[in-house]
Amino acid sequence: MMSKVYNDYFIDCALIYSFMSRILCLTCQRPKKACICAFTTEINNDIHVVILQHPSEVSQTKGTVALLAKSLQSCQVIVGEVFDGDALLLEVLAQYHAVLLYPGEQAQDLNQKVLFALTERENNSGDDEVNRKPLCLVILDGTWKKAYRMFMLSKTLQRLPQICLPEYLANAGQYHIRKVAKKNALSSLEASCYALALLEAGSDFENISPDKVGKYQPLLNKFQEFNRFQLSFRPEQSITSRKSDDS
Ligand SMILES: [Zn+2]
Repeated sequence: MMSKVYNDYFIDCALIYSFMSRILCLTCQRPKKACICAFTTEINNDIHVVILQHPSEVSQTKGTVALLAKSLQSCQVIVGEVFDGDALLLEVLAQYHAVLLYPGEQAQDLNQKVLFALTERENNSGDDEVNRKPLCLVILDGTWKKAYRMFMLSKTLQRLPQICLPEYLANAGQYHIRKVAKKNALSSLEASCYALALLEAGSDFENISPDKVGKYQPLLNKFQEFNRFQLSFRPEQSITSRKSDDS
């Protein structure tokens, strides 16, 4: 009798434990242990951001788009691989003058001249309705290979004006979670923050640098904390870093 009671007790405990470990944070919908809410911040971006996310990125717990989308006040995520005829993207294109952040062959380095041309277009609207649309920044979220695929498969994307980040920002990545410690390997979050900071900088353009990103700096700081948080789940990583600290 006694052992039956104990058995039931242990089964109950096991059930409760398995239930608890699957409880999701109501805000970010992730398991409590992996909740990202502490790493989000509120940023009132002027330029709307549209993230086209490859389906394989959606379940990436290390992905940075969740953090970005939760922090930016004006941001939407559209999941897909081929975007020709995509109803949500068509809606965006009807409403905004979309600029694609992608280092394609047609891409213009985002410098003051390009910025001037983009913002002048908005101010000198005249009667042309197309030109009066506000700017919006479109970003492809996926590995380089996946982003290339999305771009090549979507004529709609190829027709958008392309911009890329100037070199001093493009190589400033802090993204150590995925082993992409190579040049030009920014996370979607960093790339978006840098591009937005430049596009919204106006006469402050020259003052934007990898560690002076205006109102986007708090999010980049949070992102660094998020990196450390993710690395803390890797025991072998912390051992190596401790070893290198000792030496
Ligand atoms: Zn959460």
